[in-house]
Amino acid sequence: MPSLPTYDLFAIRYAMRAAKRSDHFIGGDPHDGPMPMDYFVWVAASDAGAYVIDTGFTAEVAARRGRTFLRCPVESLHLVGVDPDAVGHVILTHMHYDHVGNFHKFPRARFHLQEPEIRYATGRLMCHARLRHSFEVEDVVGMVRLNYAGRVDFYNGAAELAPGITLHPAPGHSVGLQFVRVHTRRGWVVVASDVTHFYENMESGRPFSTAVNVGDMLEAFGTLAAHAPAHEHIVPGHDPQVMARYPAVSPELAGIAVRLDVKPQM
Ligand SMILES: [Zn+2]
Repeated sequence: MPSLPTYDLFAIRYAMRAAKRSDHFIGGDPHDGPMPMDYFVWVAASDAGAYVIDTGFTAEVAARRGRTFLRCPVESLHLVGVDPDAVGHVILTHMHYDHVGNFHKFPRARFHLQEPEIRYATGRLMCHARLRHSFEVEDVVGMVRLNYAGRVDFYNGAAELAPGITLHPAPGHSVGLQFVRVHTRRGWVVVASDVTHFYENMESGRPFSTAVNVGDMLEAFGTLAAHAPAHEHIVPGHDPQVMARYPAVSPELAGIAVRLDVKPQM
């Protein structure tokens, strides 16, 4: 059997927001204080091409939602040697506004999504302002158009997208949320996306405040752990600690892009 390929794996920080601890845990937090949130896209790259994981939001959406936009997440792919015009595969962990904007900036890509997510984003639960608040209707319509253009691959369960790239549903925060496992030179790394926004959500068993099913969110922490060789192989979706624990791609990219394929400083 041929050995699995290894990918270079990067996190690119494209936005942030000031926030409080009580914003990030169901039930709040007894020791309320500042707890900023970062926004990332991730890239698994090899000589054969790049898999982009999520596409971030646009400057316009950032302004409307009061987020601090640092850089275009798609333009930033060039920082790690990836040309968005050439990207063949975009994995969407889910369709919340901060993960699925900018899809129109990948002219050649196919998009990989769990089918329950598009049902969720277009179905009756969007009657509820609390749930639809996490979506941008133009993004949702855009995904429908991409589907009609034959450019979306849907999954119902775990799947191997390519040797060394696997997809795993872990709903709760969103109905069709999935995380991505990438084979790197340090072994499998779990790009958790919003299965755990912060290290602290999974470590303390307290899910993030945006939820459609809390029981599923709690179960999903176990699913993450079951797919990672060790705790330090799990990368949360929004934690500024990711920038602190992993080395910058280069000195100039400190605070902008880090390597996830090397051991973190925990
Ligand atoms: Zn989300």
